[in-house]
Parts: sequence; C-alpha cells; structure tokens
Amino acid sequence: RASGRLGGLNSENGAVNDAKNLRVKLVLLGDSGVGKSCIVLRFVRGQFDPTSKVTIGASFLSQTIALQDSTTVKFEIWDTAGQERYAALAPLYYRGAAVAVVVYDITSPESFQKAQYWVKELQKHGSPDMVMALVGNKADLQENREVTVQDGIDYAEKNGMFFIETSAKTADNINQLFEEIAKRLPRPTPS
Ligand code: GDP
Repeated sequence: RASGRLGGLNSENGAVNDAKNLRVKLVLLGDSGVGKSCIVLRFVRGQFDPTSKVTIGASFLSQTIALQDSTTVKFEIWDTAGQERYAALAPLYYRGAAVAVVVYDITSPESFQKAQYWVKELQKHGSPDMVMALVGNKADLQENREVTVQDGIDYAEKNGMFFIETSAKTADNINQLFEEIAKRLPRPTPS
C-alpha cells in the first residue's frame, strides 16, 4: 500500500520513519514456560489465561500504544514459536527487529542462564541499534524467587539492556515494560 504519510522503511531496524508514528517488530526470546505468551496476552488483550496459547507461526499479534508526547508506537510482536530448536532460522527471526525482549522466570536460575545465551545470540545476529529488554517474569512468586533483582540489574547493565521485573498474572509492570521500550526507540528527526 502506498502511503506517503508513513514514510520510508528503515532497513536497519524495520521502523517506519515517521516522527509521530512508529511501527516496530519486537521479538520475544526465552526458555519455554517463562511466560512469554502470557505477557503478550496480558499486554494485547488485558487478560491472564494460562491455558490459551498465543497463535504463532507466520503471524504476530500487534498492539499500539500512545505516549505522552502524542506519538504512537505499534508493536508487531513475534513469539519464538520454539524456534530455539531451529538455530538456522534465528537470523530470519531477528531480521528487521527493532526490539528484542528476553524473558526469564525469577524462580528459575536455568531460565536466567538461558536468557544470557539469547542475549549473546542477539549480539551476534541482531541489528546493533536494537533496543533490548531483560525481563524477570513471575515476580508475583516472591516466595520462590531464585534470581535476585540485583542479578538482573547487573547483567542488563553490562549488556546495555533495559531491565524490569513483571508479572503477567497480576499485570504488574506489563504496560510499563512496553512504555519504557517505546521511549528508548530511536526516532527519526522531524522535518
Ligand atoms: P512461554 O512458553 O514462555 O510462552 O510461557 P507461557 O506464557 O505459556 O506460560 C507458562 C506458564 O507460566 C503458564 O502455566 C502460566 O500460567 C505461567 N505464568 C506465566 N506468567 C506468569 C506470571 O507472571 N506469574 C505466574 N505465577 N505464573 C505465570
């Protein structure tokens, strides 16, 4: 569709070049079971449904948010769909992604280790100006916590990532996660 208003596509990160409205591809990464699908469902539909799996494959879910400066950001959210098993597909998955959200479960040190593996993969295959977020999910399970907040902060800081703990179950920090990402997106200079 020809739309002069939307401007051109930035081939580096897939963002649409319009000072007011951005459209970005966001990829989710993380161990199976950390809550990626639930985070997306909570953000897009405002609900927590542990039994329903987000539709994946060739499609994605999208959600637009408005920021205080009256700009909008449309997130096109790609779930891994178990692509961790198909290493050869990874570069295709990351291509054009302006945002990567790496999720772990604060009750699972293994998932935190796996998150670090994904960060390294992103550093290899992703665009250098990609906005990267590290998310410690299931923050409602404080009594089972095995990864400290400081561990998350330290790792994120070392790798130039934004860090936040969330709960898809209680909705804690879910909207904040996406708002903080939106604020960090490189914006084209208004003409
Ligand atoms: P995915 O494989 O990473 O997409 O993980 P899912 O979104 O399918 O979630 C895996 C399981 O973790 C489900 O049974 C959810 O009920 C549960 N879960 C997801 N997010 C949370 C959360 O924030 N808190 C708690 N307590 N459970 C969660």
